[in-house]
Amino acid sequence: MAEAGKPIQIDAALLQQYVEALGAIGWQREGGIVRPVYSAAWVQARGQLAEWMRASGLDVHEDSVGNLFGRLRGVDDSRTILTGSHFDTVPLGGKFDGALGILAALVALQALRKQEGQPRRSLEVVALCEEEGSRFQAHYWGTRAMLGLIQGDELEQLRDDKGITISEAMRAAGLSPERYREAVRYDLDAFFELHIEQGRILFDERVNLGIVQAITGLWHQWVTVKGWADHAGTTPMDLRRDALQGAAQMAVEISRLLEQEGRPAVVTLGKWEVKPGAVNVIPDEVSFSIDLRHPDEETKQRLAAAIWACCESIAQERGLTVASEITNDSLPSRMDVALQSVLIASAQVCGASWRAMPSGAGHDSQEMARRLPTAMLFVPSVEGRSHSSAEYTAPEDAARGATILATALYQLAY
Ligand SMILES: [Zn+2]
Repeated sequence: MAEAGKPIQIDAALLQQYVEALGAIGWQREGGIVRPVYSAAWVQARGQLAEWMRASGLDVHEDSVGNLFGRLRGVDDSRTILTGSHFDTVPLGGKFDGALGILAALVALQALRKQEGQPRRSLEVVALCEEEGSRFQAHYWGTRAMLGLIQGDELEQLRDDKGITISEAMRAAGLSPERYREAVRYDLDAFFELHIEQGRILFDERVNLGIVQAITGLWHQWVTVKGWADHAGTTPMDLRRDALQGAAQMAVEISRLLEQEGRPAVVTLGKWEVKPGAVNVIPDEVSFSIDLRHPDEETKQRLAAAIWACCESIAQERGLTVASEITNDSLPSRMDVALQSVLIASAQVCGASWRAMPSGAGHDSQEMARRLPTAMLFVPSVEGRSHSSAEYTAPEDAARGATILATALYQLAY
């Protein structure tokens, strides 16, 4: 490894130009970007990224699912250190989510090539085709293709809301879905992803950089509370078995439990169904979703059990029944400790303040980390805004993140 004591200066003005130019592709009049995977805007964005990669002196190639790569060949070209993020967006998303990770990686490789010449080990910037799952619910599609985690039947089963299958959409974008297996990579030694925080911790604490320790584990549960439907006028309050009153009490208690637990535990009850759904009928069946997240698996399981115990005891008190279905239980993903140290050393060399933190959102890195050493660095999001046109990261914060990324890559590849 090269000595750590050397910040690699990136071209901050160019990084801003890239952010604005890429952000204009798919931009809507009402504000925000619509750039789902394999759409016309997505194809245009990929073409623009390829042009910039080529102009930066990188070897450009594309895999069978639409991930785009720009390679800076090392003296030893057999293995690869990969860095980048995704270029699809949520509907009416912002300019920074995903895009900044690709563009920071691009200016980092430009700076390294210009200032340091050929690396000892090969470096590659990747523009991942799909992360958000906005069109096909195909989360981490590009990453999963690279890791060999796509199931063949997904190609015909995943459909967008117009009924177009993901394989039809791939063909329309000039790709060959039947060759999806050719996207698998066996030469990757490490993955670095720079991303906006999408929360407000760094912004509030005025810290320059977040170094991610773990990406949160997820617990999704669908809870159904049943009572009796009765006349809203003739049934005294003390004789009711109102499923909604029970479910509402559960919601309050669940929030209280998580508030007591404190950061970084979070819970959201975002979706509700009330039956029969009439103004003058006491609800006899209420269902709601639970989205519980914690970066520590043991804590996540303990909280899930406490939430369920609370639901059962409220149901019992009120003469209701409660049942549930667990719809997702995914493990937290730990970032590589040695790569975290490289990022910390780079932040120090660049004079940046940093803090360790979990990621409460899912990212491509969580999938990469299941197969190869992976690290993530967060730059501040103004007021934590994200997945909207209000998403913003100050140019100096973006440039500082890219500088730290370049400095970390220098340590590993030169
Ligand atoms: Zn993202």
